[in-house]
Amino acid sequence: MISSNEETIQNIVNAIKSVLPDKEHIPLHEPYFGGKEWEYIKDCLDSGWVSSVGDYVNRFEQMLCDYTGSAYAVASVNGTAALHICLLLAGVQAGDEVLVPAVTFIATANAVSYCNAIPHFVDVEHRTLGLDPNKLYDYLQEIIEFRGSVCYNRFTRRPIRAVVPMHTFGHPVDLDRLQEICERYHLVMVEDAAESMGSLYKGQHTGTSGLVSSLSFNGNKTITTGGGGAILTSNKALAKRAKHMTTQAKIPHRWEFNHD
Ligand SMILES: *Cc1c(COP(=O)(O)O)cnc(C)c1O
Repeated sequence: MISSNEETIQNIVNAIKSVLPDKEHIPLHEPYFGGKEWEYIKDCLDSGWVSSVGDYVNRFEQMLCDYTGSAYAVASVNGTAALHICLLLAGVQAGDEVLVPAVTFIATANAVSYCNAIPHFVDVEHRTLGLDPNKLYDYLQEIIEFRGSVCYNRFTRRPIRAVVPMHTFGHPVDLDRLQEICERYHLVMVEDAAESMGSLYKGQHTGTSGLVSSLSFNGNKTITTGGGGAILTSNKALAKRAKHMTTQAKIPHRWEFNHD
């Protein structure tokens, strides 16, 4: 069984290598700069707005909304920070458990840890390489109990607050089925859409189904800003709160520096 799997993998690797004869290794993603990047960077430097605010940030956020169909987009320093804030916006608190896929980049679990919450790994399926909603349903049946309207893990006695589907290499998770499960178990769905810019689920852009979701624009992603990320949401109050939290939570004032 194992050896035949290894053989299959070796055959795939050989087939890929045969069409890339001059490459020693196969990159996951290579950034490609073939447009006006140099021009825009010069313009940005000339403007003096080179940090977290400025015209390009506003334009970028608007373009993200136009492209994904999300009502709001808030830029962040990277995808991990975006997901960290998404989880806080979803109400994740210290000591909560958050369900994350067993196959993902470590940032998904790190963002959970940054909330002092506990990543709880659950199975993925072959077809999508993402969270397996049917297995999740059966598993939750076994491990949860309700206290009031909150879903608890009856073995660890911790609340299970949220679930973070991740669309591996751009393959969308079965979001409809997952949504049903979230409703049934009172879980908040936060999508980690770091790898799925441009991927649609039933005609709708990934990252626009959950309460909030995160994108990444690291150099190895579908589109890149060097380093960067964004939070998507259709909820105006959450978008406002996201902007507040990505900008040091400063209360607007002409001279006082109060950060709530
Ligand atoms: C890349 C990635 C992130 C983190 O993005 P950064 O911008 O590198 O912080 C989060 N989750 C997944 C699944 C990723 O692939």
